[in-house]
Amino acid sequence: MDGASEMAKKSIADVDCQGKVVLMRVDFNVPQDDSGAITDDRRIRMALPSIESVVKRGGKLVLMSHLGRPKGKGPEPEFTLRPTAVRLSELLGLPVAFASDTVGPDAEANVKALQNGGVLVLENVRFNPGEKDGEAVYSNKLASWADIYCNDAFGTCHRLEASMVAVPNAMGAKPKVVGFLVAKEIQYLSDTIANPQRPFVAILGGAKVSDKINVIQNLLGICDQVLIGGAMAYTFSLAQGGATGKSLVEKDKVDLAKKLIAMGGDKLVLPVDTHCGDDFKGSCNKQVVKAGEIPDGWEGLDIGPETAKKFASIAGKAKTIVWNGPMGVFEMPPFDRGTIAVAEAIAKSDGISIIGGGDSAAAIEQLGFADSVTHVSTGGGASLSMLEGEKFAAVELLDNC
Ligand code: AMP
Repeated sequence: MDGASEMAKKSIADVDCQGKVVLMRVDFNVPQDDSGAITDDRRIRMALPSIESVVKRGGKLVLMSHLGRPKGKGPEPEFTLRPTAVRLSELLGLPVAFASDTVGPDAEANVKALQNGGVLVLENVRFNPGEKDGEAVYSNKLASWADIYCNDAFGTCHRLEASMVAVPNAMGAKPKVVGFLVAKEIQYLSDTIANPQRPFVAILGGAKVSDKINVIQNLLGICDQVLIGGAMAYTFSLAQGGATGKSLVEKDKVDLAKKLIAMGGDKLVLPVDTHCGDDFKGSCNKQVVKAGEIPDGWEGLDIGPETAKKFASIAGKAKTIVWNGPMGVFEMPPFDRGTIAVAEAIAKSDGISIIGGGDSAAAIEQLGFADSVTHVSTGGGASLSMLEGEKFAAVELLDNC
C-alpha cells in the first residue's frame, strides 16, 4: 500500500475553525442495554480530541453518526443518538444540542442557532434513505451547511455510505480533513505497516481462514513471519494431511490453505501443539497433543504450551508486531492461556505493537495490557480491511497536506 500518500492527509489541526461550521462524521455507534443506557462510551471518548480541538478554536461543531442498523425508512426510537449527546455533554462539561432529525427543519434550525464553540449532535444518519442510496438532495443539504468536513469515524471508514463519501464529495473545494482518531489509525494500520521496522511479525488467529485470507496474503507479502493460531490453524493442519478430530475446520478452504503454505514458505509459522478438549466446555476433559494429531472425538480449543512459548519468543524479538484474532477460545478458560501468553509477550516487547480491532483488542484490554502496546485499533471490519491493504474511498477523497 502506498503509505506516503495516506500519511499526507490534511488534519483538523491544519484548518482554521473560528466561526466555521465543522461537519464531523464520528462513530457514536455505542453498545446499549435494553433500557437504552450506554454500556461502554469508549467510542465517544475516542472522538474527544477532535471535538475539543474544534470547540476550543471557536468552531461551530455539527456531529453526525449512525447507531445500530435501523431500516432507513424514518426514525426508530431504539436507535436514537440522543443518549450519546447527553453523554458527550457530560464528558465535555459543556451543553450539547441535539436535533431530532438529520437534514430536516430541526437540524437546520439547530445548525443556524450554533454559536462559536457550540456543539450539536444530529439524529442517526441511518434514519434517512439517502444515507444508504447516496441520494443527492440528502447529501447536498448536509454539505451546504458546512464550511469544513472532518472524518473521525474510523470504524466506518471502509463503508461507502453518504455521510462518509457523498457528503464530503458534495462539498466541492471546501476543506475536507481527517480527525485525530482516523489519522492515528492510518498511521499505524497503514503507514507503519508499509515501512516497518524489522523483524516485522504478524500474529493471526480467530475462527475462520475465510475471514482473514486477504489479510494473510497481504501480510505474507510484507512481514518477515506470519504466525497462525486459533481455529484457523486446523484448516492449515488439514492441508498438511494432519488429523483435526472434531475441531472447527473449513474443508472448502483446504486448497487455499495449501496455496498460502506454498506462498509463505518459512515465513508462515503454524502451531506445533494443540490444547484439546472432548467437549466445547471449560470443564471438559483435556489433553495437549502434537499439531496434526488431534484424536477422533476431540477438538482443538487453543494453541498448546510449546506453541505459546514459540510464538512469545518470536514476538519478543520483533521490532514491529501486528496482532489480530485470539489464539483459542479465550472466552472459555483454561483455553485462554495461548491468547494470554501472546498478549503478555506483545505487551512486554519494546517493538511497535499494533492490535487489530475486535476480539484481540477486547482481550488486550481485559488483560490490562492496553497501555503497554503502541496502538489498539478501534475498528473491527475497518481494521481488517486496512490490514488487507485496501484503500478507503472515504479517506482517499480527503485533502492532502
Ligand atoms: P474472529 O472473530 O475470527 O477473530 O474469531 C474470534 C473467535 O474465534 C472467538 O470467539 C474465539 O472463541 C474463536 N476461536 C478461536 N480459536 C478457536 C478454536 N480453536 N475453536 C473454536 N473457536 C475458536
